[in-house]
Amino acid sequence: MAAIMHRLLKPTSPSLSSSISLLRRSVSTFPQNAVADPKGRNVQWVFLGVPGVGKGTYASRLSSLLGVPHIATGDLVREELASSGPLSNQLEEIVNQGQLVSDEIIISLLSKRLEAGESKGESGFILDGFPRTIRQAEILDEVTDIDLVVNLKLREDVLLEKCLGRRICSECGKNFNVASINVKGDSGRPAMSMAPLLPPLQCASKLVSRADDTEDVVKERLRVYYEKSEPVEGFYQSQGKLMEFDLPGGIPESWPKLLEALNLDDHEEKRSSAVA
Ligand SMILES: [Zn+2]
Repeated sequence: MAAIMHRLLKPTSPSLSSSISLLRRSVSTFPQNAVADPKGRNVQWVFLGVPGVGKGTYASRLSSLLGVPHIATGDLVREELASSGPLSNQLEEIVNQGQLVSDEIIISLLSKRLEAGESKGESGFILDGFPRTIRQAEILDEVTDIDLVVNLKLREDVLLEKCLGRRICSECGKNFNVASINVKGDSGRPAMSMAPLLPPLQCASKLVSRADDTEDVVKERLRVYYEKSEPVEGFYQSQGKLMEFDLPGGIPESWPKLLEALNLDDHEEKRSSAVA
């Protein structure tokens, strides 16, 4: 196993370098005439954030607002697994053995996704779940310019409560959250409230929590996440691209503040008045 990892991660690994050149090609050939950006293209952003923070939700809302694809590497892995694509067998084995999907595979899935988008005329992207390691960040840097990295943060006690409040309907599989967050403000920290996401009547009696959503497991998951993400955050911090964003509450409180922080509050006004 270690030998395989070593081979995959070695910069000279032929399959990795061919993936990188594929990625380089697909990124550099994005149409350069899209959207009125000083760089002549749409945004190229990365979203970081601990699992449970709602990163996918915010990344997805922003991507519709800006007209760029929201590319979540978790989705790419799931889609490949569900397909009969060239990597699906290899992936199935890795996932079944509980191993981490290698940088090589993630990069090759990402380049495939970018190429497919490019052929449809896509420009720009919001990446979610990538890069997860310094090595991935370095590879991404070799092939494209990331404009901005948004690091979504939520105070840990609230995050824990949110994670422990997750429920799934055992019948339809929909996700809900029974945690009703209501913390008072204290020294230096404002009060925070987040409404639960309650199920409709037909699901209410069928809710179950995931076996791995116990307090100890969630805490361990957070610890592992912080340990891994810190170097990646540092990498972008040193490039002056990291924007830390403390979520002030649920979506109704956080969304307008996030737009403001990204200088997009104007953008949404124009868009909604155009729609109306
Ligand atoms: Zn249901």
